[in-house]
Amino acid sequence: MAEVQTKKYEFKAEVKKLLDILVHSLYSSREIFLRELISNASDALDKVRFEITKGSEVADKELPLEIKIDFDEKKNTITISDTGIGMTRDELITNIGTIAKSGSEEFLKQLSENKEAANNIIGRFGVGFYSVFMVAKEVIIKSKSFRKDEPAVWWKSDGSGDYEIAELNEPLKKGTIIEIHLRDDAKEFADKYRLEGIIKRHSNFISFPIYLKNEKI
Ligand code: ADP
Ligand code: MG
Repeated sequence: MAEVQTKKYEFKAEVKKLLDILVHSLYSSREIFLRELISNASDALDKVRFEITKGSEVADKELPLEIKIDFDEKKNTITISDTGIGMTRDELITNIGTIAKSGSEEFLKQLSENKEAANNIIGRFGVGFYSVFMVAKEVIIKSKSFRKDEPAVWWKSDGSGDYEIAELNEPLKKGTIIEIHLRDDAKEFADKYRLEGIIKRHSNFISFPIYLKNEKI
């Protein structure tokens, strides 16, 4: 692996709670993990487009603003990449390690009022990035901020309480790559038709181009 000096961090208590609920909930809604990741990619692309419009200095400005989804049915992996704003190490810690977010917070609130409804609630709410752990046994994030001097970073977690971060010792263009290692009971998602169906069902309105294995959806 190319990362150096890995450091371990713990998720905040409310994140652990959310992860625990997501990992142990029933399965009917779990395909929404992809909607959440595509929505984050789209937000990241919106943000970098705004920086470009503002005239900010932006690394790899020439890259097309797009989302790429890839999978490997032998390795049971799915990768979602965007050429958006990216994240620095500090941004990864603040944005992914804690909940300050609309969807997740409201999700936990509704759940505390109605414990049986987890499955229905997951489908309706944006429970954000963490919903990936409904299908993932491990997630790796590689990200490079649009800011020119910032190094690329590597993040890894199995969703069980802590995560690791390191500086990524390989060149990466601006944007974010989310690598999902599927749980044994979620291998069905490493499939072209399954992914295509989910994208069309839940991410039809996304304004940036989405490619599945280099084919435009
Ligand atoms: P929300 O999208 O409601 O803010 P999420 O849990 O989906 O909550 O995402 C948390 C945060 O992580 C986002 O607000 C964003 O700052 C950061 N993030 C997630 N995915 C990406 C991405 N692909 N590129 C840049 N930042 C991201
Ligand atoms: Mg989101």
